[in-house]
Amino acid sequence: MEIPSHVDSHYAALAGNVPVRAALAGEVSCDVCVVGGGLAGLTCAEDLARAGMNVVLLEGRRIGWGASGRNGGFVSAGFAADWNDVLARVDLDHARKLHALSQSGVDYVRSVLMDEGCGDLIQGQGGLLLHRSGNLAKIEKSVRQTQIMFGEDREIISGFELRKLVNSDTYVAGVKKKNTFHIDPLGYANLLAKRAERQGAQLFESSMVNALQRVGDEWLTTTAQGRVTARHVVLATSAYGTPFAPLRRAVVPVSTYVMVSKPAGELLRSVITFPGTISDTRRAGDYYRLIGQEDDTRLLWGGRITTRKSEPVRLAEALLGDILAIYPQLEGLEVERAWSGWMGYARHKMPLIGQFWPQKSPNLWALTAFGGHGLNTTAMGGLLVSGAIARGEAVHALFSPWQPVTTGGLFGQAAVQASYFAMQAQDWWAEWRMSRR
Ligand SMILES: Cc1cc2nc3c(=O)[nH]c(=O)nc-3n(C[C@H](O)[C@H](O)[C@H](O)COP(=O)(O)OP(=O)(O)OC[C@H]3O[C@@H](n4cnc5c(N)ncnc54)[C@H](O)[C@@H]3O)c2cc1C
Repeated sequence: MEIPSHVDSHYAALAGNVPVRAALAGEVSCDVCVVGGGLAGLTCAEDLARAGMNVVLLEGRRIGWGASGRNGGFVSAGFAADWNDVLARVDLDHARKLHALSQSGVDYVRSVLMDEGCGDLIQGQGGLLLHRSGNLAKIEKSVRQTQIMFGEDREIISGFELRKLVNSDTYVAGVKKKNTFHIDPLGYANLLAKRAERQGAQLFESSMVNALQRVGDEWLTTTAQGRVTARHVVLATSAYGTPFAPLRRAVVPVSTYVMVSKPAGELLRSVITFPGTISDTRRAGDYYRLIGQEDDTRLLWGGRITTRKSEPVRLAEALLGDILAIYPQLEGLEVERAWSGWMGYARHKMPLIGQFWPQKSPNLWALTAFGGHGLNTTAMGGLLVSGAIARGEAVHALFSPWQPVTTGGLFGQAAVQASYFAMQAQDWWAEWRMSRR
């Protein structure tokens, strides 16, 4: 059998040859079958096994093969949905609870890395959110509002102070966030997998689930060579092949792109000195960070979103063009690797966490649709589902205002793409108006 390989990313190059896990073969029975070996599935499996449950995790390709092992590595509080949209559905008290949960995901990632003695997978601390347009008074007002709502520690910087951190004409102001950091996400996924196995979870790779059936009081999960019978099934498959149609139809795959430069320490540090995560406030914004030390420093740059599934030709060139439009001083920077990945989005951009079909499909759990804000929320969601299954906790009910809504196949994809074009047009319009002032 051909073993699927990770995308050719910087992280995969750092990870080297991680031992391959066997594919499921034959019949296995357990308490919980987790489908999907990304950060959501891994966190849930580890925590369930820690609670004493008998857990099998089935990953169709390799651990961390999906978005979890190829993302930007930003770990920060919040969700993919905008807080204004969240507040349109729930009151402030509810939103505060959600914010605290999203923060608990950040804390969990850090504590796992520290407990395991893998602090070196943390590649930088702090966050800088950059505004390309808008005036300082307005930015200050919105930052104050967020501080009042969620108690986040934020500091606004502009002018010379900002230029010292990111030397570009593009930005009018920046907001520094303390409790944010960035990691090697594939290293982290591999660490979680080992941790789950240490707790007794059985992890299988190359084990694509192709059927899910209710048999009596249990679920029968089938792969090409094996079958798992379990009381509970957790679907943590995101945008990459959910074997349950109502959930698959509720999650749209959205592509985004990342590149890592060749080492260029002196050049990069002459332009960017901020050591943490850097992103802009546009709806389809850029996200980037410096990684590595001294001469070996590289730029990791991500951006662009589209519902197009194939990788664009000349991806590296396109991303380099985006970089040079902001930092023309980086002319001469060379790209080492560029890759794409799919994020799973629900129409409302909030995660889908819970049992959404309790009558017809009891004990079938959705743990998915973390969008472009998954490093903290997969941790949080994995723990919520584990707590619900192992201890009957009901905290995940805080996510019940966000139910699966069918995205309507190709037509739905076209609608999502149209909304991205509209978002980009709004960004350009705001920036154009600003440039005319
Ligand atoms: C390029 C990129 C950059 C990003 N940057 C950031 C960032 O900086 N910060 C942040 O917070 N978030 C970021 N995200 C989002 C974040 O990576 C995701 O939200 C998160 O990793 C989703 O994790 P997951 O476990 O739900 O899904 P995935 O990691 O996609 O895992 C799903 C897994 O399920 C498996 N699978 C699917 N179907 C089956 C099946 N039928 N049987 C068995 N296995 C199956 C897949 O093979 C896959 O490994 C980024 C995403 C991308 C793509």
